[in-house]
Amino acid sequence: MNTGKPLIGILTNLLAVETGIFSGAERIYVNRDYVDSVLRAGATPLLLPIIADQEAIFQQMSACDALIFSGGQDVHPHHYNEEPSHFLEAVCYERDLYEMAALRFAIQQKMAIFGICRGLQLMNVAFGGTLYQDIAKQIPEGSLAHSQKARKDEITHAVDLADESWLQRIFKKKTLMTNSFHHQAIKDLAPEFRAIAWAKDGIIEAIEKNDDSCVVAVQWHPEMMTEKHSDMHLLFCAFVDEVKQRNKKATKKVEVYAHE
Ligand code: MN
Repeated sequence: MNTGKPLIGILTNLLAVETGIFSGAERIYVNRDYVDSVLRAGATPLLLPIIADQEAIFQQMSACDALIFSGGQDVHPHHYNEEPSHFLEAVCYERDLYEMAALRFAIQQKMAIFGICRGLQLMNVAFGGTLYQDIAKQIPEGSLAHSQKARKDEITHAVDLADESWLQRIFKKKTLMTNSFHHQAIKDLAPEFRAIAWAKDGIIEAIEKNDDSCVVAVQWHPEMMTEKHSDMHLLFCAFVDEVKQRNKKATKKVEVYAHE
């Protein structure tokens, strides 16, 4: 059955069970907000577990129309040629490797990709960029509080949008209000990306790839806001719409080939 709804793969995380009879077991999970936001935007979510087998990763990617790289641990600094500082938080090397392989396959297949929080950082590092291991430590003067204490759907700071960017086309305004749950940020931007949003302290809050692919990422957590903030719901709708347009083009091409 073809529902016409894009199938959006959501990359997941690992959680070690610490107590009870299953102590030591690892669970595969993602916050439900990702699933709900994709559903709310009219697409079908599919959770993708962290695996190592390259052929299986390729098969995962081939099954999906688009990907969402979710939030989570710090990217291991070895991926950008740094040693861990005292301020580095939890890392998951296995997840880093899985996501970098998934990203490579997805880019090869010209899939639409949406990175969120860690997703943005992972994408930047995978393409040769670097990160601040800790904003408060490395930019003590002048940086804002990017690790908010307020609940997940509260607004923390403003984000200025670049002209002629994917975000500006969606929102048709210059400033957006976002939540903020990150202690790391982009330091050197990977050459294949451009910054399309900044907090008032200059921290990069969104990026897009420098070509006609739909490879975009934001540093905040829009999925935690879609229920109460219509602009963040609009962001997911815009991504899903983009995926639909690209699917249509791809189908047309297949039809053309079939007629030749
Ligand atoms: Mn922020």
